[in-house]
Amino acid sequence: MTKKIVACVGGGQLAQMLGQAGEKLGIVVRSSGAKDSCAFSDCEPFTNDLNQEDNFKSFIEDIDVFTFESEHEGLDWAEKMQDNSINVFPPANFVKIAGDRFLEKSHLKDLEIPTAPFELIDASISSAELQNLLEEIISSKSLSPHGIVVKTRHGGYDGKGQWVLKVGEETNFKKIASEIYPAISSPGCIVEGLVDFALECSVIAARSTTGEFASWPLSHNEHRDSILRFSYSPILEINNLEELEIQAKNIARALCEQNDYVGTIAVECFVTNNGLVVNEIAPRVHNSGHWTIEGSITSQFEQHLRAITGMKLGSTQCPGFSAMINLVGVDVDKESFENKEGIYLHWYGKEVRDNRKVGHITIVGSTVEELGERTKTAMNLAEL
Ligand code: AMP
Repeated sequence: MTKKIVACVGGGQLAQMLGQAGEKLGIVVRSSGAKDSCAFSDCEPFTNDLNQEDNFKSFIEDIDVFTFESEHEGLDWAEKMQDNSINVFPPANFVKIAGDRFLEKSHLKDLEIPTAPFELIDASISSAELQNLLEEIISSKSLSPHGIVVKTRHGGYDGKGQWVLKVGEETNFKKIASEIYPAISSPGCIVEGLVDFALECSVIAARSTTGEFASWPLSHNEHRDSILRFSYSPILEINNLEELEIQAKNIARALCEQNDYVGTIAVECFVTNNGLVVNEIAPRVHNSGHWTIEGSITSQFEQHLRAITGMKLGSTQCPGFSAMINLVGVDVDKESFENKEGIYLHWYGKEVRDNRKVGHITIVGSTVEELGERTKTAMNLAEL
């Protein structure tokens, strides 16, 4: 039987783990990236420049579907794929929405899904006008009593392209306005109200070509310097978890159904006194869902491939308790992780650099206590 081929622009760890999941399903992931891309350990490598017509033709040769590793890469190609009658999942128009904070938040508002109040900053204003605007929003508390965060429309991730201004804190508005100003015209910025939240979480879900929908239990996410460090599921410290799980599922389902979405999706949320408030949508597999590799019957990666290639979705049952530790800018002794029950090192094979995600550890346990013990062991092994 010939193997199905999924093409993906991007050669990072998400494509790599899609490639790993593909092996089990008899699916090849063709990844287009730079020569030393980490995805190439598990994917069919494609390094030629896609801007050249011949290269583009060989990239799409025999592929069954085109997918994304990032909402910031591959949209131009997706349009070309559609012109060549190739399936693009998730749909390119939704990936475009999720990759633009203004469109994303406007879409959430249209669907009446709770999100922080926001405004688009007019691209033509001067630096002095920007300064006045920021001062006015902070003093009137029109977006939030706590303060604001200015975010670039595109390209920001892991806290990049963000400026937080808190009510009551001394702020040099002139300085901050001159820092933000270059981003106002390109890529554009929004300003949103700071949300007062108890914790951050995400729901990972998937929808198939036939409209089948499945989601995993909420994941509790902890960030440091705006980079995800630690996730675990199920969430332990919330009283109204059942209610939040239902809300999360409804949000993910509404986004999928309204957009004829196909593939895995992640919705990052704040837990507030009034329930979930959505922060961001990732139209793809997501770092906070990595624990599903060992923590669930079907991983988010396998589910994505199942969904986009027309297969039935797998079970999202999670037999125990799971956690995930991100390895950010640190090397580890890989051998020390061998044969450690319930502890799984995923090393991406990338060069270790500051603030770079170079691997993660999944930990599973049949009880909370067992998960806690194993997590301590994993932290020690990684010298964290
Ligand atoms: P983001 O790039 O939007 O995921 O933001 C990175 C981190 O900044 C989030 O994980 C939150 O911890 C924080 N953050 C972003 N937006 C807000 C907001 N409106 N209110 C409070 N914290 C926020």
